[in-house]
Amino acid sequence: MADVPAECNIKVLCRFRPLNQSEILRGDQFVPKFQGDDTVLVGSYMFDRVFPTNTTQEQVYNTCAKQIVKDVLCGYNGTIFAYGQTSSGKTHTMEGKLHDPHQMGIIPRIAEDIFNHIFAMDENLEFHIKVSYFEIYMDKIRDLLDVTKTNLSVHEDKNRVPYVKGCTERFVSSPDEVMDVIDEGKSNRHVAVTNMNEHSSRSHSIFLINIKQEHVETEQKLCGKLYLVDLAGSEKVSKTGAAGAVLDEAKNINKSLSALGNVISALAEGTKSHVPYRDSKMTRILQDSLGGNCRTTMFICCSPSSYNDAETKSTLMFGQRAK
Ligand code: ADP
Ligand code: MG
Repeated sequence: MADVPAECNIKVLCRFRPLNQSEILRGDQFVPKFQGDDTVLVGSYMFDRVFPTNTTQEQVYNTCAKQIVKDVLCGYNGTIFAYGQTSSGKTHTMEGKLHDPHQMGIIPRIAEDIFNHIFAMDENLEFHIKVSYFEIYMDKIRDLLDVTKTNLSVHEDKNRVPYVKGCTERFVSSPDEVMDVIDEGKSNRHVAVTNMNEHSSRSHSIFLINIKQEHVETEQKLCGKLYLVDLAGSEKVSKTGAAGAVLDEAKNINKSLSALGNVISALAEGTKSHVPYRDSKMTRILQDSLGGNCRTTMFICCSPSSYNDAETKSTLMFGQRAK
């Protein structure tokens, strides 16, 4: 597969997972028909790229994340999202099986790639790489690397760049150290909640990689950062079935995902002078890493099953708004 061309800075990629065991046992139909490498027929939707079910993790990485790593090392900011209903393959795409060289997803591959690039670069460049890991649940920011920090706030630095104040930052100097931080954050997340699957489907998890480099002789500096976002499940909660806390969660998720959709579509149109970044905590945090010169990639993750037809269509529509 060739790289996705670089002229447009917002890319929307669509990935279908295979039917799973319970869908097959139920006798669900496999719905999508793929046409060329950018079109899926469930209705008819075009994206920068459509990945059919047999696409490997490596192919996904090489096609759309590899270039972003190079760009971040050249001082650009970027964001990669995964959007879709629960169980559509968001976490598989972003993380995959973390310690499995074939099944690992985008984040561990980025970790390896960054250090491979750095080892091959000018010896006079000094790198400082730090990572943060947090989640947004019910509009509260929780530090996954320090369980005592459960409600952090968004501030702006002196250059008006938004950041999560007080969030733990870890310096890392190898892919293994990045993986250790991810493992630590994930186990903290597990400890804090009773049902991890439910919780992860209702919160956004955000992994931030910050890269600073300085030339030891010229003292010239370059900074780039990359946000890697595994969004909350986009499924609609049935209006009659849900009440109380579940309904509040659903409303909250809906609000933050539509705020994101509005920002991306304003950026994609390119004509709007007002981009509504301030409508949610997530879009505020991502403000200087979305649109403009930034590299923005959105994965639209879908189930192929006839059972999920309505959700799949609404997921594809969300992605289409960004085109
Ligand atoms: P989500 O994070 O959107 O809720 P997951 O990534 O956890 O969904 O995926 C649900 C299940 O489907 C997992 O067991 C995952 O391993 C599997 N899966 C998802 N996408 C794929 C794929 N492209 N190929 C094979 N298995 C997949
Ligand atoms: Mg998930």
